[in-house]
Amino acid sequence: MRIGALEAGGTKMVCAVGDENGKLEKKVSFPTKTPEETMPVLLDFFEEHKVEAIGIGCFGPIDLNKSSATYGYITSTPKLAWANYNIVGAFEKKLGVPIGFDTDVNGAVLGEVCFGAAKGCDSAVYITIGTGVGVGVYVNGGLLHGLLHPEAGHVLVARAAGDPYAGKCPYHPNCLEGLAAGPAIMERWGRPAAELAEREEVWELESDYIAQAVTNYILTLSPQKVILGGGVMHQEQLFPLIRAKVAEMLNGYVRHNAVLREIDRYIVPPRLGDEPGIKGALVLGKNAV
Ligand code: ADP
Ligand code: ZN
Repeated sequence: MRIGALEAGGTKMVCAVGDENGKLEKKVSFPTKTPEETMPVLLDFFEEHKVEAIGIGCFGPIDLNKSSATYGYITSTPKLAWANYNIVGAFEKKLGVPIGFDTDVNGAVLGEVCFGAAKGCDSAVYITIGTGVGVGVYVNGGLLHGLLHPEAGHVLVARAAGDPYAGKCPYHPNCLEGLAAGPAIMERWGRPAAELAEREEVWELESDYIAQAVTNYILTLSPQKVILGGGVMHQEQLFPLIRAKVAEMLNGYVRHNAVLREIDRYIVPPRLGDEPGIKGALVLGKNAV
């Protein structure tokens, strides 16, 4: 089956054509401008490639409730040109094929579950730590939506003793995104995260905040795999720090080998590199048919 995949992000739109087995035939990306400028480019791409379905993993917040009048809309995003924009409707109208739609991070967790590090799992979380923090949740064999969709990048964490930084989130003084996403690292330490690799105290603090959140996801969602991606996780020294702190915070309470003895294989980077989102979008497209 010929499926179109779109990973819709605030800075770029990754478009691909592939099949239901996660094989990509073509992948290109276009800058995200306004819907008036960008949508015709995307519509032309998918029309030209004669796709039979499209899956979209989208930045949010978005409306995923199929019985809502604004299903398929990007809702209250800070990217104002895209606020209240009916992105699913625009594709349906022009291409008339089934459209699968979910958050970018739900797309990413689905990609890793179908083809990557969480293959075979029926519950997994994918956490991206980049410009923001987002969490895709797959539980009992399906993507979690609930009330709106999870916003678990904004879980509250306990501020580390001696961290005077006010936080970057306009809503929460103590949330993970506000204290630990790339822009927070930059503001707290005065340099981009990528230039702070040698500063141990940066990653000591960063891993504490990430570990608190991961501990809470483990305790509430009971994932069989925890996948950490996004630009900040390119600092690979974070992985052993996070694993050790999660083990310490759980303190032996979750009595499973994954945590007690095999945490190196439990808290892992994406196996699909930078493609979990686009491959997950293929599956979203397939599932829409
Ligand atoms: P986005 O979240 O916008 O989709 P990324 O996941 O690439 O994109 O995240 C971008 C953020 O990641 C930036 O804040 C940047 O500072 C940070 N980042 C990118 N590369 C690195 C790196 N090698 N080490 C640490 N931080 C990085
Ligand atoms: Zn927040």
